[in-house]
Amino acid sequence: IIRVENVHKRFGSLEVLRGLSLRVDPGEVVCIIGPSGSGKSTLLRCINYLEPIQEGRIYVDGELVGMREVNGRLVPAREADLNRMRAKIGMVFQRFHLFPHMTALQNVMEGPLQVRRMRRDEAEALALRLLRKVGLADKATQYPSRLSGGQQQRVAIARALAMEPRIMLFDEPTSALDPELVGEVLQVMRDLAAEGMTMLVVTHEMGFAREVADRVVFIDGGVILEEGPPAEVFGSPRHPRTREFLSKVL
Ligand code: ATP
Ligand code: MG
Repeated sequence: IIRVENVHKRFGSLEVLRGLSLRVDPGEVVCIIGPSGSGKSTLLRCINYLEPIQEGRIYVDGELVGMREVNGRLVPAREADLNRMRAKIGMVFQRFHLFPHMTALQNVMEGPLQVRRMRRDEAEALALRLLRKVGLADKATQYPSRLSGGQQQRVAIARALAMEPRIMLFDEPTSALDPELVGEVLQVMRDLAAEGMTMLVVTHEMGFAREVADRVVFIDGGVILEEGPPAEVFGSPRHPRTREFLSKVL
């Protein structure tokens, strides 16, 4: 459902992704691990076309990201194509970016109302169902400033789900949280994975990766150095860089 082929991404003279290829199949949970600055966030941003790429191809749900074909030539995608593509992808960041002037419920309803053009009563029913799913039905009328970090992040997950995405991208969703709040967010992600959601998760939570991932991908220097089932990558890493990285984080 996601296909990244030989992608190169540069910021000026700095080449951050250096010919990276990755596939994620429907229903798969893939965890990305790797050192700081290795290009993990950049990869997610390219998949969502928050960043253009210089070389290579990215397909989401069979469609080329950021480009479209006209008479066999590739031209930049139109805004409408991009919006349609982005609607298939839910993204959750390290920081929650909730709208501060809206309640939890209004935050979750906003996408369905503005983008999906749902009726208000339908959007509200959907938002309530999703808040219940992330364990926050009783916080629907609270403003973000009155919620803990873990609760805010769960609202952010509900908000992403309200677009009914085909794929969820997570970029270190728990690394800004106090340790005691990490578990409740990981539990919501675990539930999503168990329901069969396709997930690409950048994480430092090795326990989560080991338990939930179908595949773990180790990125270093803008390429994938090693990938495989968690038991293999954590249990008997082949690449010396993977071993070195794991010895620091495990
Ligand atoms: P971390 O684990 O710290 O989040 P990361 O693997 O997510 O790291 P990226 O954020 O993808 O790393 O950054 C990879 C490299 O690209 C870094 O050297 C970073 O400084 C650089 N970079 C990222 N975004 C930009 C940008 N908009 N302009 C210039 N350089 C950037
Ligand atoms: Mg990052």
